[in-house]
Amino acid sequence: MAQYDFDLFTIGGGSGGVRASRMAAGYGARVAIAEADRFGGTCVNVGCIPKKLFAYAAHFRDDFRDAASFGWTLGEPSFDWRTLLANKDREIARLNGVYERVLVNAGVRILRGRATLRDAHTVELGGRSYSARYVLVATGSWPQVPQIPGREHAITSNEAFHLERLPASVVVVGGGYIALEFASIFRGLGVETTLAYRGPRLLRGFDAELGTRIAEEMRAKGVAIRLDASPARIERVADGTLELAYQDGARERAGAVMFATGRRPNTRGLGLEAAGVALDADGAVVVDAYLKSSVDSIYALGDVTHRMNLTPVATAEGMALARTLFRGEPTALDYANVPTAVFANPNLAAVGLSEEKARERHGEVEVYKASFRALKHTLAGSDERTFMKLVVDARSQRVLGAHMIGPDAGEIIQGIAIAVKLGATKAQFDSTIGIHPTAAEEFVTMRDKAA
Ligand code: FAD
Ligand code: NDP
Repeated sequence: MAQYDFDLFTIGGGSGGVRASRMAAGYGARVAIAEADRFGGTCVNVGCIPKKLFAYAAHFRDDFRDAASFGWTLGEPSFDWRTLLANKDREIARLNGVYERVLVNAGVRILRGRATLRDAHTVELGGRSYSARYVLVATGSWPQVPQIPGREHAITSNEAFHLERLPASVVVVGGGYIALEFASIFRGLGVETTLAYRGPRLLRGFDAELGTRIAEEMRAKGVAIRLDASPARIERVADGTLELAYQDGARERAGAVMFATGRRPNTRGLGLEAAGVALDADGAVVVDAYLKSSVDSIYALGDVTHRMNLTPVATAEGMALARTLFRGEPTALDYANVPTAVFANPNLAAVGLSEEKARERHGEVEVYKASFRALKHTLAGSDERTFMKLVVDARSQRVLGAHMIGPDAGEIIQGIAIAVKLGATKAQFDSTIGIHPTAAEEFVTMRDKAA
């Protein structure tokens, strides 16, 4: 190995790159990592972490409203965006430091700047070349915005984390994770919010009932939802006001337009093609089960492979790769039953198959559902419904999918995911004693078949 400067050169210090580098160094490899921006990548800087902090801030609106029913008297609540931004930035700076220290303590050499590939074993950065036995491409992804006139007036999630001031009104375009989360955040922080989605139902790919029900719940919280609405053009009509024209001729004015219309893998200008690395039609690095690209010495993981763009998937891939390359244990990740949550208000989470996918793959399925007003809302008088659904294989009785809309859905589904991953049957769910009074206990007390 000594013929190379490093055993592993990682390009990108985000969720996946940092984990792979740290683990590889722990197994004795000589590792370097290049980061063009801040360590921690999308999740830490402009993703999961600041998003969840904003979501907490937004949820206080409901809590203040409900407090009176529990006997509290509050003054008129007011919200200061600058305070939230400053506190969020302080926490992110702390996390940037944690990520760097973790790498340094593991003995990883940190290099700052934009790295590019010259060939299968050579990376260039800041006018210098570094050779490596293996190169890991972990460069993440970037927001993708439709090519419509006036798109330059719009923001994406990147800018939403640093707005000078909150607009009075916003149109969020998209019907996926980021659109739902940010529409809920803006609304919770007092912004008049429209969510505009090009399709007939939100959250394509999730259980259809979740997509329909989350729209109802978000509408009840004051988000205006336009379905079958595709943006055609954006114009600045006055200082601080944008006009969004839709393809069907409808128009809408708002202080800001935010695109949450998917993300593209960061592969442009990296030198991948020159090194012979195959990319798919979306520009993602094509990898095999062991994360190897079409070039033997070049590997890729996380968002740049554009498969399951979630932080825990990127970090799990990082660990698998380190084991494969430096521990002599070829490790392929199991992508089945990866749980996921959308931190909208209310939260939504799922593991396993939607009812539609389960029917497609398993034929006969049984469906169990619960829809109820959570105990907290009985005093508060809120009409918010918690919704739960289990999809069960009729033959084997295995639970194929668990789906939920309601407070802490992510926290609850994380636990249920262990049972689903282990292949638990409906009878085993039923034989589990609930914790009372919780919403989660409904998952072990659903008795009536809905379908
Ligand atoms: P990244 O974390 O994006 O890291 C890539 C790094 O590479 C970046 O730091 C970048 O600066 C660097 N880089 C790029 N090119 C170069 C180069 N040429 N040289 C050097 N460095 C380079 N996932 C969840 O699981 N839960 C959530 O709640 C969640 N919320 C999200 C909210 C938002 C708004 C967004 C945008 C994403 C969210 N995600 C969430 C997705 C999650 O952030 C990503 O899946 C995850 O960060 C991917 O990790 P990665 O290592 O592949 O890439
Ligand atoms: P998503 O893929 O979740 O959603 C993109 C949305 O934009 C879809 O509704 C899509 O519609 C729509 N869209 C795509 N292109 C256009 C277009 N040209 N015009 C109008 N609408 C369009 O991507 P996001 O940007 O929301 O998030 C990126 C990824 O980051 C997510 O897929 C997820 O993996 C990750 N993430 C995870 C989070 C979490 O775990 N909580 C939170 C945020 C992000 P259609 O469905 O019709 O194609």
